Amino acid sequence: MSSGMSALNLALVEASRVQAAGAEWALTTDGRLAVTSDRPEAAFADLEGATEAHGRGSLLVGPRSARNAAALRRQLGWLRPRPLGTRTSAGLGDRLGLATPGHVRAVRAVGGGIAAIFPQQSIREMTRTGRTPTEVMDDATWGQFVEGWKGGTGADADHLKTTADIDACLAAGFSLFTIDPGEHVDSAADGADLPTLRARAAALPWADLEDGEEALRQRYLGRSFAVEHLRIVFDEATLLRAAAKYGRAVAHVARMSRHLLKQAGSRPVELEVSVDETETPTSPAEHYWVAAELKRLGVSWVSLAPRFVGRFEKGVDYIGDLGALEQDIAAHAALARHFGPYKLSLHSGSDKFSVYPIAARLARGLVHLKTAGTSYLEALRTVAAVDPALFRAIYAFARERYETDKASYHVSAQLDRTPPAADVPQTDLPSLLEQFDPREVLHVTFGSVLKEAAADGRPRFKDDLFRLLRGNPEAYARNLERHFVRHLQPFVGVKA
Ligand SMILES: [Zn+2]
Repeated sequence: MSSGMSALNLALVEASRVQAAGAEWALTTDGRLAVTSDRPEAAFADLEGATEAHGRGSLLVGPRSARNAAALRRQLGWLRPRPLGTRTSAGLGDRLGLATPGHVRAVRAVGGGIAAIFPQQSIREMTRTGRTPTEVMDDATWGQFVEGWKGGTGADADHLKTTADIDACLAAGFSLFTIDPGEHVDSAADGADLPTLRARAAALPWADLEDGEEALRQRYLGRSFAVEHLRIVFDEATLLRAAAKYGRAVAHVARMSRHLLKQAGSRPVELEVSVDETETPTSPAEHYWVAAELKRLGVSWVSLAPRFVGRFEKGVDYIGDLGALEQDIAAHAALARHFGPYKLSLHSGSDKFSVYPIAARLARGLVHLKTAGTSYLEALRTVAAVDPALFRAIYAFARERYETDKASYHVSAQLDRTPPAADVPQTDLPSLLEQFDPREVLHVTFGSVLKEAAADGRPRFKDDLFRLLRGNPEAYARNLERHFVRHLQPFVGVKA
């Protein structure tokens, strides 16, 4: 059939070669798209690049462009993000846009039992990294393509706060929309007395909730609900606390969900609800109330991220009482089975190695693991090995930025527990990534590292960082694979 690629004078990435849609596709080792086809009118229609005769057909060589990435997703169906439903899944966020090859290898290495989400980024991190939703999507598309990944992917538009966020990510082809109503959660309700709770409840947006205070009381007050091993009892304080704390958030999620479904039309999309970035834990009664109220308002969702007890800080293991967390996860997992089933979503999920076996077992596979910044730390590990001076400079700068940059993250590192950059012997630089405080300092300062300009106005670190990672793709992919196999392995083979 096809004139084939073997006779070409192009160096191809062997793993990327694939026959599909009446053509053969591959990436060249210098990062261009090469396509041969005997029916170029059809195969090349969406592509851009230079074409020439090749055997009985044609050859196209084109740039790694947005247009060609979109064409790949149209022509090679497995690159097109789609809803994953309740399959055990992992989101592998990638702030730099170069991590997908390593992520693919990790998913492969654990045997493919986990549904992967390669394109995933929150609006906050897109702003910090200066990337558009389309760029996030395209980087993941090229990363899957170069590795020859045909196992499919979801795409998570994470922590969306406005309908404009939804529109931007929908246009870029995302399939999972994580709605974050955190700004509408009133954590102060946790410590409020009954008169205060009554006042707060009276002030709820009852029209948006399609509800009234009397009706609410009738549905819950004095009743007890059995959910597996749990008995959820709503006395007045419990009910009004749940409503005061999460009522506005429920209304916001319903609004966002309706907007999404309307804009998506016939396109399949799915929804996650995340309240993980709030100050106080989500109690089982509150989870019950939120789920029951969202259902009453006609919202359906595939995963929910409660705020668990203890601390899920960025890039480090769980901080808190594992026994208490185990009880907490057991309750939330039971509620997720009862109202869904839907998945429990573990946000800030990277490096929580002590939590994975517990979550996998108790959620019975109904779990989504979400990670992002830890791939940046593996990039820094690669830098530390290849260019210690650059790593030292980034670390020194990160220490300067930390007090400012930590504000929007859940971290507890203290600068006085991190050694000054000049004091660290070169051979010890990589070990900074194994230490709690330096690790968090490096983690939350990535946006500043990427944005910082030198005196001449050019990026101070960004270009060197990207040049190094692009020049050492195998080293970076190996670090990522090793790191993520540890994340994914505990979730493999756990059946619902
Ligand atoms: Zn989150």
